[in-house]
Amino acid sequence: MYIARILYPVKVLGPGNRIAIWMAGCEHQCKGCSNPELWFQEEKQSISLNEIRSVIHALCNNYTVDGFTLTGGDPFFQPNALRELLPYLFTINKDILVYTGYQYEELKDRYEDIFKYITVLIDGKYKESENHGAVLIGSDNQQILYLDSSAKSKYQAYLRQTTSKIQNFDTSDGIISVGIHLPGFEQRLKSKAKDKGLKEHL
Ligand code: SF4
Repeated sequence: MYIARILYPVKVLGPGNRIAIWMAGCEHQCKGCSNPELWFQEEKQSISLNEIRSVIHALCNNYTVDGFTLTGGDPFFQPNALRELLPYLFTINKDILVYTGYQYEELKDRYEDIFKYITVLIDGKYKESENHGAVLIGSDNQQILYLDSSAKSKYQAYLRQTTSKIQNFDTSDGIISVGIHLPGFEQRLKSKAKDKGLKEHL
């Protein structure tokens, strides 16, 4: 499977301190996508389930993990990777939030075996003109679907209690900015960094 990055603790893509996994590959080409570098898969992103297990085990042994968020790219660009990964994640924590640019209706009959491991699905392409800074969703057309209805109250409380926030991680690949960014975010950040004489990693 092709995984671009794994970060912890991500607090802005679901309730609690989560392990977020960015899967590489996406065919939607949404205008204004904040991760166009993840549309394509690179050999260096190829990773086995065993390698992922050791990363996740190390995190879970040392920190509290409240859930997982899978984003990208589009996780459903790699359905077989989801078939491998999700049952394993599910044994650790059943709160699994997955983003996809497809509509649930398009996927549900084909991937019933995958959906039984997904707690919350956020579906639909990103539409820049409908990005109004909502929590969790990139644009108003996207739906939050509670595939496991028992998670609904937890997520609804999270949605009520928080505002859309950005978290920056200092990684070996430079600063990774996580969260739902408003349109023009990258240009504003680059211009601020330039004003302050900072080197550009974006
Ligand atoms: S589905 Fe997500 S990753 Fe893919 S192009 Fe749209 S916004 Fe970008």
